[in-house]
Amino acid sequence: AREIHLASRPDGWPTPDNFRLVEVPVPTPGPGQILVRNTVMSVDPYMRGRMNDVKSYVAPFRLDAPLDGGAVGEVVASEADGVKPGDLVLHGLGWRDYAVLDATAARVVDPAQAPATAYLGALGLTGQTAYAGLVDVAGMKPGETVFVSAAAGAVGSLAGQIAKLKGAGRVIGSAGSAAKVDRLRALGFDAAFNYKDRPVGEALKEAAPDGIDVYFDNVGGDHLEAAISSMRPHGRAAICGMIAQYNSTEPPAAPRNLALLIGKRLTLRGFLVGDHAGIRDQFVADMSGWLRSGEIQSDETVVDGLENAPGAFLGLLRGENLGKMLVRI
Ligand code: NDP
Repeated sequence: AREIHLASRPDGWPTPDNFRLVEVPVPTPGPGQILVRNTVMSVDPYMRGRMNDVKSYVAPFRLDAPLDGGAVGEVVASEADGVKPGDLVLHGLGWRDYAVLDATAARVVDPAQAPATAYLGALGLTGQTAYAGLVDVAGMKPGETVFVSAAAGAVGSLAGQIAKLKGAGRVIGSAGSAAKVDRLRALGFDAAFNYKDRPVGEALKEAAPDGIDVYFDNVGGDHLEAAISSMRPHGRAAICGMIAQYNSTEPPAAPRNLALLIGKRLTLRGFLVGDHAGIRDQFVADMSGWLRSGEIQSDETVVDGLENAPGAFLGLLRGENLGKMLVRI
């Protein structure tokens, strides 16, 4: 069996040297455990934070030990009641081709309901993050103007589409290439711009001349500053991520306009998807319907081979993905 270890902690941008492919014996399940052959795994921006040796909301990855994260695979051996060989399971031990884990830490998923990749993307925590951020955290109301950053990414592309389906008046997205901007328009965003072409503040003012009510923040920095400037009174931001600073070694230069929060009575609210389990049933019902009807399209970028997982992760940080970045094992 093979697994990817963290060989060293990155300082700034990670490089392939921070990872190591290691050959190990196929593990054997103990009582209550299952052996899973992983078929697809997720790479996610939050994994960058776990590569640092700092206290955070998830424990740091250990050096010279396998990384972990969301994965789906087929059960090949089971010492647990209720899970049998052939079952497809969603679990947290990605970055390896074979995983042994307690059956209670895995969820059996139905490949007839949705493809395996969907359980890591639109129907999984990615989709739930988009849904929770808009509905629970920002409290988006019909008719409102919504701005989404990293809008061609996994969470962002779903957040923009969910906003439209929940009745947003106007949805604006930013992304890092002309092709991504075209894709956002095809997905139903009312306006989209490439943040690399010109200052975000300028582009956002043009796309939303009357201002915005809700900002779904995946980026932070100059995007957040622009959103604060464009917000109408009582505007709300769901602070989901700040990828612009995950690899920086300097403190961010923006936002410099937080004083606007006072006069405009703005709310900036950070959140973690894990705290929003309460919306799960509603999310799954809505999202399954939207995927079935084709009202939501979930883009995926799939990289082949476990050995290419570090490259997929580095590519994600550089914006090489359209929609959800996944590795087929
Ligand atoms: P994405 O699929 O959005 O991939 C990351 C994208 O970020 C890239 O494709 C790239 O697109 C963009 N990006 C990278 N660097 C920059 C930059 N400097 N400025 C602007 N855009 C940049 O990843 P996810 O959908 O998985 O995650 C999106 C965000 O949501 C992340 O910040 C993540 O940390 C956060 N998150 C938070 C959760 C929570 O519970 N709070 C749960 C899940 C995710 P481009 O080409 O457009 O630059």
